[in-house]
This record gives sequence, C-alpha cells and structure tokens, in this order.
Amino acid sequence: MKLQRVLQYAQQLLIDSIQEGDTVVDATAGNGHDTLFLAQLVGDNGQVYAFDVQKNAVDATLHRLLDNALEHRALVLHTGHENIAKHVQKPVAAAIFNLGYLPGSDHDIVTKPNTTILAIQDLLQLLKIGGLIVLVIYHGHPGGKEERDAVIDFVSQLPQKYVHVLKYEFLNQQNDPPFVIALEKMKDFPVPVAQ
Ligand code: SAM
Repeated sequence: MKLQRVLQYAQQLLIDSIQEGDTVVDATAGNGHDTLFLAQLVGDNGQVYAFDVQKNAVDATLHRLLDNALEHRALVLHTGHENIAKHVQKPVAAAIFNLGYLPGSDHDIVTKPNTTILAIQDLLQLLKIGGLIVLVIYHGHPGGKEERDAVIDFVSQLPQKYVHVLKYEFLNQQNDPPFVIALEKMKDFPVPVAQ
C-alpha cells in the first residue's frame, strides 16, 4: 500500500519534526503509545510532557515508559491538556492529540471541543516556528462529530500567513475512520480566541 495509513502518517509527521533534545507534548496520553514514541525521538536531552485526565491512563503511560527504561524522558501529568501552559514553558517542537475515548476504558470520558481548542491555542503560542501540532480525530462516538466540527471550524479560520493547516483523510473508508489534522506554525502571531 503506497498511501500511508492515518496513524502511520501521523507518526511520520512527528519523526519529520522532532530532533534529539526537543521539548514535545502528548496531549492525550491514554495507554502511552504516543508518549513512548515521542520519548524515543527526543533522546536523553529532550523532554516529553504527557497529559491525561484519567489516573489509569497516567499509570498505563508510566508503566509503558518504565518497561522501556525511558521514564526519565517524560513527565506524565494527571491533568487536562487545557492546562498545558501552566506546565510547559519551553518552546515546543511538536504535539500529538488522539481525540476520543481510551480504548478498553470508560467510553464516557472523552475529549471535548472547548478544552481541545484551548489546548491547541496554547500550543500555537508555545510552538517553535516550523513546529507541528498533529491531531488524530476519532469521531464515531457520541460527541465525536461535534468535537470534529468545532476543531475543523477553529483551525480552518487560522490565517495561512501564520499557520498551515492540513487534513489527511481517506474518503471511501467505512465506519467513521479517523483522520489527521496537522498545523505547522510559520510565524509568531496573536492566536485568536475561540467563541
Ligand atoms: N494516545 C493514546 C494512546 O496511545 O493510547 C490514546 C488516547 S485516547 C484516544 C484519548 C485520551 O484522552 C483518553 O485517555 C482520555 O482520558 C484523554 N482525555 C480526555 N479529556 C482530556 C483532557 N481534557 N486532557 C487530556 N487528556 C484527556
């Protein structure tokens, strides 16, 4: 298959934008797959900040890092990504979001439009020029379509002089397949406040 799958594509974007020593963010740690992936990319001089509102997600992420002896590269925070700016002060090279619920856990705990957009706004300020925010948008669950539409509405209005916004999506797959939104910061700018 020549067209990269959505999750592969998201990972490739992270590989292309992260170098050893970088500061990066996993905005939805979940079972820690992305946190581990980021920890492998930033090296011993880099730092991953991982966020999740569920204690079991924080524990699963810490376990995954410990199993791979990479716990020293990540700070796993039991708090929402809407608090990113309180915890991250350094310029960020890349951030990843996997929206929706944690597979194998409580399906009622899902990411929400307002907090997701707040986190994107904060990250747009924190991003280096050339830095990337990658969102994998799952939208098949209750509330998923509202979040998808709110995020697309917000990012579509970002001025292209300051940020390039891409959607990567298979158009003929069944059952609400996830898709990628990627934002590349081109220039510092005053990020608009969401309505
Ligand atoms: N990337 C994860 C992995 O590798 O397993 C999967 C993430 S899962 C699709 C979405 C996660 O977002 C859930 O673990 C959920 O608890 C978390 N979440 C929901 N609201 C959040 C918020 N405001 N801030 C941070 N995480 C949140």
